[in-house]
Amino acid sequence: MPITKEKDLLATYAENTWCPGCGNFGLLAAVKKVLKEFREKNELHRLVMVSGIGCHAKIVDYVPVNSFYSIHGRVLPVAWGIKLAHPELTVIGHAGDGDAYGEGLAHLIFAAKRNTDLTFIVHNNSVYGLTTGQFTPTSPKGFKGRSTPKGSPETPINPIELLLASGATFVARGYVGKLEHLANLIREAIRHRGFAFIDVLQPCYTFFNTYEFYNQHVKEISPEHDSRDFSAAMELALKWSYSFEAEEIPIGIFYQTEKPVYEDAVIVPEKKVDLGEHFRHYHL
Ligand code: SF4
Repeated sequence: MPITKEKDLLATYAENTWCPGCGNFGLLAAVKKVLKEFREKNELHRLVMVSGIGCHAKIVDYVPVNSFYSIHGRVLPVAWGIKLAHPELTVIGHAGDGDAYGEGLAHLIFAAKRNTDLTFIVHNNSVYGLTTGQFTPTSPKGFKGRSTPKGSPETPINPIELLLASGATFVARGYVGKLEHLANLIREAIRHRGFAFIDVLQPCYTFFNTYEFYNQHVKEISPEHDSRDFSAAMELALKWSYSFEAEEIPIGIFYQTEKPVYEDAVIVPEKKVDLGEHFRHYHL
């Protein structure tokens, strides 16, 4: 019997234009693993994805879900608007590291502070890939690129530390080289009620190839870590500061807790009644 290749039911008409070897492929594969579960339950229509500007943004072209291309740094206001208008939907924002930690930083801090019920996935390659290699807020000190030919003199932002300090109720880091682990983080982030943040280490093969460095240093967080312990989460977050040096780079859920969700306080009760059973968070 001839062996036939399984048809990708989550493929779209769009031609993929990412560079060969781009870390975005791993992230797309992890997202598709989770989308497959939505599709099997005939629930894909309950999902909306929002992306920003950059190589990451094309991910919404490569999956068959309702989506919205926003502008640079404005993924969160658009995603939040969708959630406020239709609280029954599961809304996932995708942003690059420039998008999320540069142009959109204030939105990120406030989304965490307010505990909006969104999942936010940052495709963090520590470089502006689409514009051919400029440094971003998470580029390591000394990073040489188009705008920093002598090396960036700046200390990078540590997004895990920042999001913990900003009050996010789900803070995680994933790596595209650990596909099952990453898919599980995305699944857990969607299940979480409140602002769920995942910083995904996703090498830019063309302008900042960090695969070898990450493969050598990435380590899954021990099951003994208590993700409800804020101090333990912060201690773990400070183990690596997005520099060229690392003893180990922890990946997994740093912190998870429950807090009131902002939408519950601002959506008028009559609307909740109108939406009936649809006014609930989607659970896989
Ligand atoms: Fe991926 Fe970098 Fe190419 Fe953009 S420039 S598609 S991030 S490898």
